Amino acid sequence: MSPDKYLKNYINGALVPAESGNYLDNVNPAIGQVYSHIPDSDEEDVKKAIAAAQKAYPEWSTTEPRVRFRLLMRIADIIEQNMQAFAEAESADSGKPVSMAMSVDIPRAQSNFRFFATSILHFGAESHHMAGEAINYTLRQPIGVVGCISPWNLPLYLFTWKIAPALATGNCVVGKPSELTPMTAYMLSKACIEAGLPAGVLNIVHGLGHKAGQAIVEAPEVKAISFTGGTSTGKKIAATAAPEFKKLSLELGGKNPNIIFADCDFDEMMVGTLRSSFSNNGQICLCGSRIYVERPIYDRFRDELVKRTQFLKVGDPSSSVTDLGALVSKGHMEKVQSYLSLAEVEGGTILCGGTPVEMPAPFEEGYFLRPAVVEGLPIDCRTNQEEIFGPVVTIAPFDTEEEALAMANGTQFGLSATVWTKDISRANRMAEKLQSGIVWVNCWMVRDLRTPFGGVKNSGVGREGGQEVLRFFTEPKNVCIKYG
Ligand code: NDP
Repeated sequence: MSPDKYLKNYINGALVPAESGNYLDNVNPAIGQVYSHIPDSDEEDVKKAIAAAQKAYPEWSTTEPRVRFRLLMRIADIIEQNMQAFAEAESADSGKPVSMAMSVDIPRAQSNFRFFATSILHFGAESHHMAGEAINYTLRQPIGVVGCISPWNLPLYLFTWKIAPALATGNCVVGKPSELTPMTAYMLSKACIEAGLPAGVLNIVHGLGHKAGQAIVEAPEVKAISFTGGTSTGKKIAATAAPEFKKLSLELGGKNPNIIFADCDFDEMMVGTLRSSFSNNGQICLCGSRIYVERPIYDRFRDELVKRTQFLKVGDPSSSVTDLGALVSKGHMEKVQSYLSLAEVEGGTILCGGTPVEMPAPFEEGYFLRPAVVEGLPIDCRTNQEEIFGPVVTIAPFDTEEEALAMANGTQFGLSATVWTKDISRANRMAEKLQSGIVWVNCWMVRDLRTPFGGVKNSGVGREGGQEVLRFFTEPKNVCIKYG
């Protein structure tokens, strides 16, 4: 399965260009050059995709779960058989190391299909018995045509995290990957054709968010939207979809605290903290970008973090020794650099990193930045309040549990939090009081797909994962039968 130069939409089971015939450039961020082109889709393409999904829905929504199970497993098998090609494509689109795509992104994409393929075999609903009078039972039925819109940071991983449960529950999907990272979604459309997924069950429309994405959100036929992306985009989507009474799942931005107590296992914490700070160049919504450290170990921590950060290898994404590849785009690199300038204006000291990396050919024009550690900023400054989504962490000391909590909870976001301590009582107290959808204790990014996934405050609305997402993609109908 080799990537093509001109990508196509996947509509009604076929690969087709945009109706307008227009294309957008797709840039490889490691070399800073256009390497392929994607359909610049608009409302017309979205209309066709919706019509195909509507046509497929009556049959797909009534297929037996074991039929859907088999098809989704087949798609997972094809992804697995083409793991290397998918990983290389993900790397070329996003700048991340191939090794990361091989160990995280692509394995997880196929797990998403396998997990929800098997989940649907075990999905049940409740009954409520009114003694001597009646029985109520709940029917859980698919919604219809649903929209799945995903971002560029974990492209196939997050796209399939939505598509797989939507299809498993019997919905037909119109999906849009990020225009910055479309290649693996295109390869997924080929995998669906090879697997024999019926025409129109899944449709993938490529293009710009404000054009193709907005058309999906606005379409009255699309009854639910599952979106992952930035908080401001989520706000816009909610404003469009809510008055139409669409079901909404919004997984949005984060500014996650990493709270380190002096009694933690220092070495384990350092390994975990380096990962939570800079994995995927800090371009994971769950990265811990604000690090709060109990004062007795603050100096030791700061020196060790700076040393280990400087040791990270930034470079050629295809090399197996590379830790960090390129940032996703020129615009994003400029955004991250502008936050580093702001951090200095706000009184922070950049202890290491923050400068572009001079790369040899063919990477001279690539978007490579050294990971940065910043110290000396107040909690309420913009650098500590706004999502940077890059290889930048801020560090600060704290003295008490209450102070750590106040700092951790002191932003508009509430996606995830990490706590490092050997005191289990303290871990439980913190977990209870942290305002976030996910709390990790003595670990980071340990993921069980059965657990609820999502954020509080401005980090989102609704939950993905396990039963939560199966419920999101189905409508409950109560049937009440009175005894004769
Ligand atoms: P964006 O919000 O810019 O885009 C996300 C997706 O929405 C893209 O496919 C985009 O298309 C599309 N889009 C943009 N505007 C609209 C619109 N008006 N209507 C419909 N669709 C639209 O996010 P990024 O791609 O920049 O991703 C980074 C963000 O995602 C960060 O804030 C990060 O925290 C968040 N995120 C959250 C996660 C979570 O689980 N909570 C997980 C991963 C990331 P296009 O790319 O073409 O503009």
